[in-house]
Amino acid sequence: MNADLHCHSYYSDGLLSPSDVMRRAHAHGVELATLSDHDETAGVPEAHDTALELGMRFVSGVEVSVTWGDDQTIHVIGLGIDIYNHALSDGLEAVRGGREARALRIGDELAKVGIVGAYDGAMRHARNPALISRSHFARYIVECGLAKDVKSVFNAWLGRGLPGYIPHQWATLEQCVSWINGAGGVAVVAHPGRYWMEPKVMESFLGEFKELGGRGIEVLSSSHRPEKVEIFADYARRFGFLASRASDFHAPGESWTDLGKLPSLPPDLKPVWSELL
Ligand code: AMP
Ligand code: MN
Ligand code: MN
Ligand code: MN
Repeated sequence: MNADLHCHSYYSDGLLSPSDVMRRAHAHGVELATLSDHDETAGVPEAHDTALELGMRFVSGVEVSVTWGDDQTIHVIGLGIDIYNHALSDGLEAVRGGREARALRIGDELAKVGIVGAYDGAMRHARNPALISRSHFARYIVECGLAKDVKSVFNAWLGRGLPGYIPHQWATLEQCVSWINGAGGVAVVAHPGRYWMEPKVMESFLGEFKELGGRGIEVLSSSHRPEKVEIFADYARRFGFLASRASDFHAPGESWTDLGKLPSLPPDLKPVWSELL
């Protein structure tokens, strides 16, 4: 099964419409798709309709921003959720609510290091202003000719500890997992290779996630190279997690892999879609 269970549209920080994301997934051979915008499900109905018209299977999705422990930002994918569940939609609205004030502060901090007009510039890239994100700042800075690509902007200005990084309080892990489970979904740890946690801290995070009712982990992700798969496959085995396969597609050419182009999961792991179909 060519399943790809993590991607973005212009309702968050992707560049394409939900329909265009589904058309691209289909063209790349995806058989089971989702749309998992950051803290937002507004694009899901359009993606769902297009996916079905194209003959793909579809599960609804969302990527929830979480703050865990001492200022660790974690992303959790909710799959198979009822997007009309009130606790979930109210929770996501509250999470989105903090973004604009944070973006103003990012703009102020970037101005101090000589990047002017960044808030307005980023807003021009954000089709959904409630979802203004660091990706939009990055695209503006590339457009200004100050960096060659989005990744370089994160390395120079927007990553943790750099001038344009503003610590932020997102949802708690407990809230996030309870919203997803309450909406009938499966909670999956997104891109575990991105968190820069010591193995002991990672284990304590995964233990807490499981205890709260989290059930899956992305074993294949565009955030780590296929050579690293065994590290995350091993976490899935040790914690009894369902395994996900996730391009985290945002825009053509923005990461090493594209929709539907990841390798297969290690055959001994239980795919998360076995619980979704
Ligand atoms: P935010 O939710 O505003 O903190 O923005 C997070 C988004 O920035 C992620 O979902 C990615 O799309 C993007 N991002 C984070 N780190 C990087 C990176 N190192 N390179 C490219 N994009 C990144
Ligand atoms: Mn993103
Ligand atoms: Mn993410
Ligand atoms: Mn993502």
